[in-house]
Amino acid sequence: MKFEIITLFPDYFSLSLKQSLIGKAWDKKLFDIEIIHLRDFATDKHRTVDDAPFGGGGGMVLKVEPLDRCLHALGYQRRQDGGNADRPERIILTSAAGKLFSQRRAIEYSLLERVVMICGHYLGVDERIIELYDIDEVSIGDYVLSGGEPAAVVMVDAIARLIPKVLGNFESALDDSHMDQLVGAPVYTRDAEYAGLTVPEELLSGNHAEIRIFRRAQAIAKCAKNRPDLLDNADLTKQELKILNENKND
Ligand code: SAH
Repeated sequence: MKFEIITLFPDYFSLSLKQSLIGKAWDKKLFDIEIIHLRDFATDKHRTVDDAPFGGGGGMVLKVEPLDRCLHALGYQRRQDGGNADRPERIILTSAAGKLFSQRRAIEYSLLERVVMICGHYLGVDERIIELYDIDEVSIGDYVLSGGEPAAVVMVDAIARLIPKVLGNFESALDDSHMDQLVGAPVYTRDAEYAGLTVPEELLSGNHAEIRIFRRAQAIAKCAKNRPDLLDNADLTKQELKILNENKND
């Protein structure tokens, strides 16, 4: 898998993606990341990549031309020339107006061979880039960032940890939040008692079947507390639904 990040601020990534699990996996070449400087695709001597918006209003817009040239240099075809929809690759445009990123999308992208991310800036990117190429316009949440770089880091992290061998113990990821439409169960470690607070005794029992059931119940309870919206689509058993309804008021 290769990530290519198109940006005006290449230094943004030099620390963030080189840390911890993702940084180590990149070192081990479990995937590759190339940072591409959009200004390299400008043609004038000032390396201009932005301009004022048509229709007025303040701010600047990233021009379509340098992006078009950049995607062409990366080997992508415009839609009119066949596009890239049938390749195991995707171009993502980071955008507050995009479709919401999710664990499901992270899983889908992690199965691809190549993911290109375009980081917008200022007012955003000239809309025609989306018309020219097969592009997924993706938002990481309902708020506005000053640039697409943090969004690209978030998405690379979420996607890369799903690539085989990146996580030491992939099985543990199956219990993560959003892997089964629920949130993850609370976790605890030693000491078994701290400041008068004890770890639930079910977790100390050593009985794995009991622990699994207990964790599932805790995950459902936490989901009901923090993200009740997720429960509508969660795959709950009849018994779990019954218990949930009985405890609705808690
Ligand atoms: N005027 C735009 C916001 C531009 S913010 C609007 O109303 O939607 C500048 C850039 O930051 C965007 O082009 C995008 O690349 C990035 N960005 C901002 N918020 C984002 C979000 N929630 N998710 C992903 N990218 C975002």
